[in-house]
Amino acid sequence: MTLTPQTKARLRGAAGFIFDMDGTIALGDAKSGGHRALPHAIAVLEALRASGRPFVVFTNGTAKPPAAYAQSLRNAGFALDDSQMLTPSSSAAAWLGETGTGKVRVLGNPGCAAPLIDAGLDVVGPSQAADGVEAVYTGWFREFDFSALEAACHSLWNGARLVTASNVPFFATENGRAIGASFPINAMLTAMTRKRPRILGKPSKVAFDTAMKVMGLPRSAAKDMVVVGDDPALEMRMANAVGAMSVGLATGIIGSDAALPEKDRPSVLLADLEPLLQAL
Ligand SMILES: [Mg+2]
Repeated sequence: MTLTPQTKARLRGAAGFIFDMDGTIALGDAKSGGHRALPHAIAVLEALRASGRPFVVFTNGTAKPPAAYAQSLRNAGFALDDSQMLTPSSSAAAWLGETGTGKVRVLGNPGCAAPLIDAGLDVVGPSQAADGVEAVYTGWFREFDFSALEAACHSLWNGARLVTASNVPFFATENGRAIGASFPINAMLTAMTRKRPRILGKPSKVAFDTAMKVMGLPRSAAKDMVVVGDDPALEMRMANAVGAMSVGLATGIIGSDAALPEKDRPSVLLADLEPLLQAL
């Protein structure tokens, strides 16, 4: 497909770019545990880097710390610094810090908890006995068990807030869609406590603002941002909510945009990244 001159101009003049990872620039490779670049993705990021335009990669995955994802993408051929890689735990650490939350029970694996520990938060293990827990944070946690459920429920009944990395049921992998771990965990916690999770990863404004801050851009530049992704309920919704340009890719979850509600509809839907590369 060809982009309109207006779309090309908006892409070329963008203040910064937020890219999704899985299904957008790369796919997880089950065999190696690493990533494989999607067509034109390496060239797109290289073009941005060469021209000095700010960009970050923001995955909603929390299985690994951001630096480990950055390394995996470098292994796949991308030129990317650790500081340009964000996960929901990056924005969660920022939000928990800003709200003065001290003690956090993390229902997540070590990669999920790492950014919170790095930010100096008092992190309590999934089923560790603890008083005074102010927030329960859920993320990638395939080891979830009944003792973690019980401990989290007690923290929530005792006043802790429920916050989560992500609350979508699926994400794209090389072998098709996979279950997002925090979604069913959140459903169980909500069923038991009636508390609904506050999302701190995509599509939240917390996630968008954290990305802007990392790129050194003011909030006033929100409308000049471009968000590129494959999930309508994550990247498109996040971009549309702040008036940024949403570029949808049909390589992952999105499929046809005909049935999407307006808030999740991309400004532009692309079959692959080539038109974006041409526009840059
Ligand atoms: Mg994706």
